[in-house]
Parts: sequence; structure tokens; C-alpha cells
Amino acid sequence: MSLTPDDIAANLAAVRARVAAAVARRGPGPVPTLIGVSKKQPAEAVIAACRAGLGDLGENYAQELVAKAEVVAAAVTPPRWHFIGPLQTNKVRKVVAVGALVHTVDRPGLVDELAREVARLRAGRGATTPLEVLVEVNVGDEAQKAGVTANDLPALLDRIAARPELRCVGLMAIPPEPPEGDPEQTRPHFARLRELSRREAAIARPGVDLVHLSMGMSADFEVAIEEGATMVRVGTAIFGARPPRA
Ligand SMILES: *Cc1c(COP(=O)(O)O)cnc(C)c1O
Repeated sequence: MSLTPDDIAANLAAVRARVAAAVARRGPGPVPTLIGVSKKQPAEAVIAACRAGLGDLGENYAQELVAKAEVVAAAVTPPRWHFIGPLQTNKVRKVVAVGALVHTVDRPGLVDELAREVARLRAGRGATTPLEVLVEVNVGDEAQKAGVTANDLPALLDRIAARPELRCVGLMAIPPEPPEGDPEQTRPHFARLRELSRREAAIARPGVDLVHLSMGMSADFEVAIEEGATMVRVGTAIFGARPPRA
């Protein structure tokens, strides 16, 4: 069962208050963008969140994103969509068509496919605005995890710099689950992403402007903000528990 619109609005207000408190602890800097993660939640839940003032939504599956974006756009002013799931090259066309900010660029083949699709979509339209993307980094060096390693990050940024269709605006990470669910244990991973960003931002590359750090979820977004997150991805704290996969 998904939550009622009133519950979603109340959760959203509570999360916003926690974001504001974390920003106050952090000190000066940008106000982080709150991305509501709506995977496996019905379009009605997204519409309720949009009506409550949420302007950024995140989805993990291309097909679900396309279907939901259409229903939502028919009901409210469309939000800005973020694609935060693993992206297969054969799903790139769908995601690019929705205009989502892709947070999960993690390999050369995906850079090339995104650039190809942007060029294709724009051929004949005369539009030249590049597609904004983030690079996902495997900050915990986990064997099974998506994301580019810290070692391979510079080469991947070079590859994006060579593609005028793309603009890299920051880095994203999904750190390892802490053993006791203690968000403090995730803090060093957030700090590592910030340090990698600082290091790479010192290198001038065309079309690469590392201003964003997409990090922090329901369990740890406050710690992420204290460590410099400019985008937090919050699902269950806004929408409630996700229904089990059908
Ligand atoms: C599902 C998901 C989230 C949101 O997780 P919650 O714990 O529900 O807040 C954030 N980021 C990514 C990449 C996700 O897949």
C-alpha cells in the first residue's frame, strides 16, 4: 500500500526540516536539491509529492521512468527527472528522451552511447545544449558494485570531455551498507567522494564542471549533507516502504 497524499506531504515537510537542520550544522554552501526516489511507487504518489512542492524525482528503471513520466506530466507541472539506477546501453534512448539527469555514468561504452543518442535526438533540431550527467564512483571499492573505481575516474572524465554532447556536472556514490546501520560509518565514504571531486576539479577539462555531489539516502542524508552533498536521494522517508517487486 502506498501512502496517502497527506502522509506524503507530511513526510516531505519532515525531511525538508531535517535537510535544513543538516545544512545549518554544515555551514555556508549551496542548499542541497532534495530528490524524491519513487521507484516501485505508483504515479499517484509522485503526483502527490509534486503537489506538495517537490520538483525533483528519481527513478531506477528506464521503463518505469518513461511510463511514470507520462502519467505525471498529464496531471501536474512535470518535475525534473533523475535516473539513478544501473543503465544498460540498450535503455539509453528511453532515458535520454525523458531528459533525465543521469547519475550513473560509470563506463566508457555508456559515455559513447549517451553521446550518440543525444546527437541522434538533436539531429535536425539545431539544438546544441549538452545533456548533463554525473559519474558514479565505487567509493567503497566493492567487487560487485556499479561505479567507476577511483583509479579509472580520470580517464572516464577525459572521455566525457571529448564528447561535446555531454556535460559532466558532478559525482555520485552509493557507499557500502554500514554494518549496524550506523550512518556515521558511512561518513568516510562521503568524504572520499568529496576529496575525489576536489582533486579532479583542479584539472581543466572542457564540458566537465564538478559542482555536484549526489550522495545520501533515507538512512544517511544528514551525514551526507554535513560532508558536502548538493543532491540527496530520499525514497522511503518520503514515500514509505516500497512494495515488494511483483
Ligand atoms: C532506492 C535508491 C535510493 C533511495 O533509497 P531510500 O533508502 O529508500 O531512501 C537512493 N539512491 C539510489 C541509487 C537508490 O537506488
